[in-house]
Amino acid sequence: MSNLYSLKAQLPAVFISKSQIESRVNTLAEEIKDFYLSQDDFDNESIIVIGVLKGAFIFTADLIRALKLPTQLEFVRIASYGDSTKSDGILNIPDLVLPNNIINKHILIVEDIVDTGKTAGFLKQYIQDQFNPKSLKLASLLSKPSRREVEIEPDFYGFEIEDKFVIGYGLDFGERYRELDYLGILNES
Ligand code: 5GP
Repeated sequence: MSNLYSLKAQLPAVFISKSQIESRVNTLAEEIKDFYLSQDDFDNESIIVIGVLKGAFIFTADLIRALKLPTQLEFVRIASYGDSTKSDGILNIPDLVLPNNIINKHILIVEDIVDTGKTAGFLKQYIQDQFNPKSLKLASLLSKPSRREVEIEPDFYGFEIEDKFVIGYGLDFGERYRELDYLGILNES
């Protein structure tokens, strides 16, 4: 028992709560759905949703369930932080294999956070070049505009935040905290 208590004492304070996330993800899904339904060439085909691992896995799972449109789910794995809280700008791309049947479709990239913009910028360009999509959009749970180094903005985002290192709801620090059902800020407990 004492172990559980001390673990609880170490939990980061709530920055964005579970219910705030839930409600924002639902309205975001509505916005995204409206966009696709307004496309002349949309015809209720599957949207290709590409989640960026590992950080976006929970957001992607919640978003596709709230979207209530047919989707084909793919994941790519890209990492730039390692164990630190500042990106060194070097992208590590262990798994960027995508199937050929996503050529010329409506594609939605789902990111956890757009920080410097390097990951999203790279991925958008790569997908545009390789798969010639009918539309290519970027949805991000979070956006940190003050850190931007690459000219890119998410087409849809949940929350705009200042330059703080956020953890929880899929986002980690050194592979910890992904399981928290809320967003906290590292070292602000
Ligand atoms: P970029 O700098 O390329 O926009 O962001 C790359 C990745 O860095 C994000 O997808 C995310 O995984 C990670 N990252 C950026 N800011 C934060 C943050 O505040 N917290 C966590 N846990 N990861 C972050």
